Amino acid sequence: MSTDLSTEIQKAVYSRRNFAIISHPDAGKTTLTEKLLLYGGAIHEAGAVKARASQRRATSDWMAMEQQRGISITSTVLQFQYQDCQINLLDTPGHQDFSEDTYRTLAAADNAVMLEDAAKGLEPQTRKLFEVCRMRKIPIFTFFNKMDRPTREPLELLDEIEQELGLKTYPVNWPIGTGDRFQGVYDRRTQEIHLFERNAHGKRTAKDTMIRLGDPRIEELLDQDLYYQLKEDLELLEGLGSEFDLEEIHAGELTPVFFGSAMTNFGVQLFLDAFLDYALKPGERKSSEGLMSPEYPEFTGFVFKLQANMDPKHRDRVAFVRVCTGKFEKDMTVSHARTGKTVRLSRPQKLFAQDRESVDVAYPGDVIGLNNPGVFAIGDTIYTGKKLEYEGIPCFSPELFAYLRNPNPSKFKQFHKGVTQLREEGAVQIMYSSDEAKRDPILAAVGQLQFEVVQFRLLNEYGVETRTELLPYSIARWVLNGWEFLDKIGRLFNTMTVKDNWDRPVLLFKNEWNLQQVQGDHQDLRLSAIAPF
Ligand code: GDP
Repeated sequence: MSTDLSTEIQKAVYSRRNFAIISHPDAGKTTLTEKLLLYGGAIHEAGAVKARASQRRATSDWMAMEQQRGISITSTVLQFQYQDCQINLLDTPGHQDFSEDTYRTLAAADNAVMLEDAAKGLEPQTRKLFEVCRMRKIPIFTFFNKMDRPTREPLELLDEIEQELGLKTYPVNWPIGTGDRFQGVYDRRTQEIHLFERNAHGKRTAKDTMIRLGDPRIEELLDQDLYYQLKEDLELLEGLGSEFDLEEIHAGELTPVFFGSAMTNFGVQLFLDAFLDYALKPGERKSSEGLMSPEYPEFTGFVFKLQANMDPKHRDRVAFVRVCTGKFEKDMTVSHARTGKTVRLSRPQKLFAQDRESVDVAYPGDVIGLNNPGVFAIGDTIYTGKKLEYEGIPCFSPELFAYLRNPNPSKFKQFHKGVTQLREEGAVQIMYSSDEAKRDPILAAVGQLQFEVVQFRLLNEYGVETRTELLPYSIARWVLNGWEFLDKIGRLFNTMTVKDNWDRPVLLFKNEWNLQQVQGDHQDLRLSAIAPF
């Protein structure tokens, strides 16, 4: 490799950080995203993310469904410059009805920001997404939002993370009061207090007044009881809290914690500055050829998400690829590991909300959108040079199951084609009953929305009207012992045996209690919540 190229890639890797936000709906993800972009100069007025998205929505009939429901189905990638870094925010859909895309996006992220509403603490969707982060052992940064409103006790919030997620915490800043009496945060990195100014509405980057801890003016600026409380809290944190340890942060064992108010743009810059210092740069990835360094000179990447019909005029499909190594260039010819085909990447795109912009080069940690004429599937590797394959993206345990019926036999062919294509695209998992007499496919999803998307697309793209019949199960577990073992056990009460797309046995359970019971009765039954590779 020429030293020029090697230096270029090295420089790009060194200055890149990527992350995804994990949160529960309403915690403030959209608001925080807007404020982060404000610092990057990507947009100049807060509010632009939403306005821009809604302007663009009308551009596609696929988006019509989003518009009707007023929700965001798509996840996109936002890029912005901050200081000398390029930050890639892999946006995950925020709606309650989240889909497997949310999980998959985390497979492409190097860091995660766990955003919590400080009045609520941990919420269900955040917990689920956290499990994926834990599986991947990526660094997790915690931001407690909405400090300008009454919140739970900060120490209690930390304790919840430690106890329930088994994650150590290190508050990088510490709040002074909450709600009406929120007066600012103390930054443990610089030992400065940042005062919260109530009338800063956060339209623009907030003015930030700082004062050092020992400054005599503190007594005038802070309410006395809050000042004493702060001193007490800090002593407690120094004495009993975890110590700062960057290695533990990088291993996903310790989370740096921040407090702020995204809406008023308070604490966002403090967060961003620390994030740049502590976040992982694009790193090594496991592949069939061992760990691949991002500085490996050949271009390699993997598909983590497919999206159909973003532009109705073209009826196209976009494959989102995370660049893992080397340098991507427009018009480059790559190999497709699964099929052995050669593909020319002639229309690469970078996405900003619903906007597309053509991209000429990309580096490790970046995400590019490729036109997908049906070649790419979730988890596929593309590469130049020596053949290699990255670890697949696991199927996550679905929680909703429904038979998909095609009431019109003359549409059988279209129905079959549509179901096969949507499955390949990863829009939904498809399973079949182990009872051969029951031939209808079973849709297995992590959110109700996935069912609607499948039905909507079958109708619009394949002309097939379908019905769903919900099944009374909520947990799926892959049986690692295999079919023979299941046959030996015989019928299990209250469960359903199905096979996944690769004919592997999966058990569906009604609820956690039901699962525990079966597991208790059959101790040697090995079950997995994630599909084996
Ligand atoms: P998302 O569903 O996570 O994307 O949440 P949004 O960003 O849409 O925010 C949900 C609601 O919380 C909106 O009404 C926001 O204005 C509000 N919100 C977000 N951040 C803050 C904050 O820091 N303080 C207060 N008081 N409200 C906030």
